[in-house]
Amino acid sequence: MQIYQLPCTSCSQCLPIAKTQAGETLQCKCGATIVVPTLRELSKMETLDVQPQKTGSPWSQARGIVFAIGLLCLALGVGGYVRIISDRGQLNTNRPEIPEISAAQIDKVGLREAWETWLGYRNTRLEFRATPEFLKNEKKYNELTFYSNVLASLGVAGLATMLGAVVWPASRKQSR
Ligand SMILES: [Zn+2]
Repeated sequence: MQIYQLPCTSCSQCLPIAKTQAGETLQCKCGATIVVPTLRELSKMETLDVQPQKTGSPWSQARGIVFAIGLLCLALGVGGYVRIISDRGQLNTNRPEIPEISAAQIDKVGLREAWETWLGYRNTRLEFRATPEFLKNEKKYNELTFYSNVLASLGVAGLATMLGAVVWPASRKQSR
């Protein structure tokens, strides 16, 4: 967008004028009323590219703080997530193996032995969940899963905040 430099008729200080202001009446800082020329006259005037110092300092303090907070959240989220997932991986949550019994084996064993095997099979099957260690590990596994999800969300939120800090001033400029 081109900015025209319109000198004030009273104090000769230049006023920045946009094309869209052609024909409008403005007031200078000195108090003088200036009528902006028509588009055709404006186009003959000296132009100036949009203030470079504004685009040159996009990293305001607020933006830097927002970005830093986002980075911190991302680092905490990712770091915590990785640690929790590795802790979780060390938990033994495997259910006890259920021994397979083939028909051939059953034929060979005596009645009493078969009965005991069946009892053992049934106990394993019904009671593995009641193993205190298994229950404890399963509870901890679920807890760690919950925290890993929280931390993953924190990381995503941090990343979004960082992206927001990068994109935010650009979109604000466009809306002007
Ligand atoms: Zn003036």
